[in-house]
Amino acid sequence: MGLTELKQRVAELANLGGALDLLHWDLETFMPKGGVEDRASQVALLGRIAHEWFVADEVGAWLVAAETEVRGLDPTSDDVRAVQVLRRDFDRERKVPTAWVAEFARTTSLAQHAWRDARAGAGFAHFRPHLERVLDARREYAGFFTPWKSVYDPLLDDFEPGTTTADVERVFAELRPPLVALVEAIRTRGRAVDAGFLDGDFDEVQQTEFGMDVLRRMGFDFDRGRQDRSAHPFTTAFSRNDVRITTRFDRACLSPALFGSMHEGGHALYEQGIAAEYARTALGRYASLGIHESQSRLWENVVGRSRQFWKRFYPELQRRFPTLASVPIDSFYRAINRVAPSLIRVEADEVTYNLHIMMRFDLELALLRGDLAVADLPTAWREASRAALGIAPPDDANGALQDIHWSGGAFAYFPTYTIGNLAAVQLFDAAAAAVPGIPADIERGEFGALLGWLRENVHRHGRKYEPGELLRRATGRPLEAAPYLRYLHTKYADVYGLG
Ligand code: ZN
Repeated sequence: MGLTELKQRVAELANLGGALDLLHWDLETFMPKGGVEDRASQVALLGRIAHEWFVADEVGAWLVAAETEVRGLDPTSDDVRAVQVLRRDFDRERKVPTAWVAEFARTTSLAQHAWRDARAGAGFAHFRPHLERVLDARREYAGFFTPWKSVYDPLLDDFEPGTTTADVERVFAELRPPLVALVEAIRTRGRAVDAGFLDGDFDEVQQTEFGMDVLRRMGFDFDRGRQDRSAHPFTTAFSRNDVRITTRFDRACLSPALFGSMHEGGHALYEQGIAAEYARTALGRYASLGIHESQSRLWENVVGRSRQFWKRFYPELQRRFPTLASVPIDSFYRAINRVAPSLIRVEADEVTYNLHIMMRFDLELALLRGDLAVADLPTAWREASRAALGIAPPDDANGALQDIHWSGGAFAYFPTYTIGNLAAVQLFDAAAAAVPGIPADIERGEFGALLGWLRENVHRHGRKYEPGELLRRATGRPLEAAPYLRYLHTKYADVYGLG
């Protein structure tokens, strides 16, 4: 008694979660805008039911019984791990009062509206009181989990279980000076890179077909997934057998669809690859946002922006887009890897991207600690941008108002992007060390060995291991900056002709 009931409840919750995800997916893709309010109440109801089903008193009793049942089993067995994961989730959710959850949903929903208006022209002052309320709510939330060393810890732990603020600070401190030096070397000594030919007029049917071809080659299973379009690309999994990605197509520019579908395809391969026997169990989800992002970045950047990849795919791209016929592959390769400090994070290249993240990390940490007042955020942002990137935004739409995260209460989310970038390189290096033929495979458009390694070492485990443990098992090392820095130095010395 206990474990069986627990498993049954978790399976029901997985079904409920799939239904909720479908409502969200539809909202972002095909739903007419008139449906917004009805959909919001449908989502709120299902969300509340899911929460109540999980934090119910009987679940607590089943957990206690299940913990007794699995005592003495192999500590790395699936049942033991599943019970641990559920205990962790249960305790966390029970610590947060239902009244806080309802109030937070209301606060962030208003804040997101205000953020949209502020960014569209109403200005930062319009958003300021909302951000202050969100920040207060987040501090209150952190308070439910005391004691901690940093107010940032419990928030980060929601996205990266087992990872502390000190872990992030240590890795960022290793990363920052060499990154700044590399940007400076490229600016002062790099040969010019022309990327103008990536803009023009590119037939959308051709873009779609090329993207589908690449996704199929990567191993995306179209019998267990599909691709649609949306304004903001995302991946969602109703189950491992129905994984949907969306892509943004831009007639005037090749890059969003080209790298967007590989990025989302990387997320999707992860979801499709979680072990079938974990379906509708506590382990049948991804390990963390950072690990999820490592999969998208690995395919988008480490594979998709490599010379090897384009040896196989560039002739195909040229056939579909005749304006590229006169562009040599070397010029194309350098163009898709052009480094230029920019104001907008989502448009940043591989070298400057993490500078954007570190800057946001510093600012949100200061906001949460109370070292920085919300009113002073726009100024602090401009100063941080000038210090990190050498440029400052002319307005807040290109500065403190550019990201949606804080308006939705997602503080401590940004580091997961950099964790993903670093882990992508560590995992790729480990795969290539285990299977030396992988780089040559990529030149032939063969990804079976790479995907097989990722399936075996990352995907199939779902949530069985915390991200740090997963990475250590797969690569033998904790999260580190050095492999990523080596990767950047080698690649960009070539792209920019740095001696
Ligand atoms: Zn992503």
